[in-house]
Amino acid sequence: VIARLCVIGIGLIGGSLALALRRAGAVEEIIGAGRDETHLRKAVELKVIDRFELNLARAVKDADMVVLAVPLGAMQPVCAAIRDHLGASTILTDVGSAKQGVVDAVQAAFGEVPTLFVPGHPIAGTERSGVEAAFAELYRGRRVVLTPQPHTAPEAMKTVRSMWEHTGALVEEMDISHHDRVLAATSHLPHMLAFALVDSLSRLDDCDKAFRYAAGGFRDFTRIASSDPVMWRDVCLANGDAILGVMAHYRDGLKAIEDALVRRDGERLFDIFTRAKQARDRFMRLS
Ligand code: NAP
Repeated sequence: VIARLCVIGIGLIGGSLALALRRAGAVEEIIGAGRDETHLRKAVELKVIDRFELNLARAVKDADMVVLAVPLGAMQPVCAAIRDHLGASTILTDVGSAKQGVVDAVQAAFGEVPTLFVPGHPIAGTERSGVEAAFAELYRGRRVVLTPQPHTAPEAMKTVRSMWEHTGALVEEMDISHHDRVLAATSHLPHMLAFALVDSLSRLDDCDKAFRYAAGGFRDFTRIASSDPVMWRDVCLANGDAILGVMAHYRDGLKAIEDALVRRDGERLFDIFTRAKQARDRFMRLS
């Protein structure tokens, strides 16, 4: 049981973690921190946290565990604000969607990556954000990836692993560059495609009319284009190289379809679609 947990950033991800740990009886006291008093008051009202602090130094005081659940671009200033106020045995972890960027931010703020810092990423989310979107079941049966550094303390790993297991998540360890490449392909690229599709359609002359006729396929494909622009801007900036790599690969795939279409090559189109359908069906059976 974590005696005092401090979550900085009580939005979808931080709020859901707080709710899940509370429900599991895995925490005694939860302190929320952030920038906006109205949001933090709401978090107390919704019983997501016990109390809040706007001052980050005060928020982390005497905490056993501090979770950074802010957008990637805020990681460094937040770390700089708490650096001199963490206890000698306080464990620090984060939930950021791209891991090298967070490790670099922690390194820049602390001057070194503390041994009690455990980089983490819950592979779970929705297109909604803010504390009102948080729910205790978000992590059940979902994967959480920890990307330890060579000098990460084993006891810190153990505690962070156990915290996530209390939410019902399946915890895995992964090399940091592998994580960033895999997530660029399976999460970051799909978000870019959804944003690009909706943005380009919305600039068509008769877009309102077009959207009116949008059916299930459009909704399925574009749901994630409702995601938070700040979060996704920061993910792009933090994992740019890996995203550019998979974007180039994807462009080749789109070009193959375009070439087949120019040639009205039905056989080629059928082959591409069949291969994709088989891959997705296999993936759905496995997941
Ligand atoms: P969110 O719902 O928008 O919550 C972000 C929280 O961070 C808000 O409570 C916000 O507080 C706070 N915040 C923002 N800037 C801050 C700053 N400079 N100082 C202090 N607090 C600040 O976003 P989220 O979806 O939970 O994402 C949080 C993190 O989780 C991100 O790093 C993201 O990469 C990662 N993540 C997201 C998902 C997903 O699908 N959404 C999945 C896995 C991981 P205010 O209310 O005061 O603005």
